[in-house]
Amino acid sequence: MTRYALPPPLQAAVAIRGSDLRFAVRRIFCVGRNYADHVREMGNDPGTSRPIFFTKPADALVPDGATIPYPPGTADFHHEAELVAAIGTGGRDIAAAAALTHVWGYAAGNDLTRRDLQARAKDGRGPWDMAKSFDLSAPCGALAQAAEIDHPTQGRISLSVNGVLQQDGDIGQMIWPLPHLIAELSALVTLAPGDLIFAGTPAGVGPLVAGDTCRVEIAGIGSVTTHIG
Ligand code: MN
Repeated sequence: MTRYALPPPLQAAVAIRGSDLRFAVRRIFCVGRNYADHVREMGNDPGTSRPIFFTKPADALVPDGATIPYPPGTADFHHEAELVAAIGTGGRDIAAAAALTHVWGYAAGNDLTRRDLQARAKDGRGPWDMAKSFDLSAPCGALAQAAEIDHPTQGRISLSVNGVLQQDGDIGQMIWPLPHLIAELSALVTLAPGDLIFAGTPAGVGPLVAGDTCRVEIAGIGSVTTHIG
């Protein structure tokens, strides 16, 4: 048995709806520019976009109902409502036609973003990591098991701040539907059980401030509520 100099880190995991079991998380992949109206609101052209992948550390996950502090280093902290797909069967070069058989479940997620740092990174052609991959940047609700629901190809995705609707879209509006995202991503990396994919956000992203309560809801899948301390 391997012995470690320090205790190994805790296994990152998300809850499973209707179960005491937890889903162990390996990596978090995220997709940029996947809803045309959001691509336009960010000043980009959806017609020329390819899926943009970036990552967050697994220990950035935040469970439903948690309170997180306003993050350091930003004055423009944004919400992004997203469908999350959890990979149950890994693989590389997965064909889009077979991609959904690799998905174990789905959840509502929030791709929290330090928008000012992202703008600075874009201006300087630098990496997005400190804009996207900071502590507690990945609220994710309980997974609905794919075996118990239909694989979602459409359905309302919405986000409210303090009860006021801010994002209101449909996952059927994705430029790159989930099977195509899995095909594209698995051509770049070998997917593994425990990987999560945050599938991009519709229009209406905006700021969060201390004291806000932010709730993402996806019809038929679930929700995730986050309080900003
Ligand atoms: Mn996003």
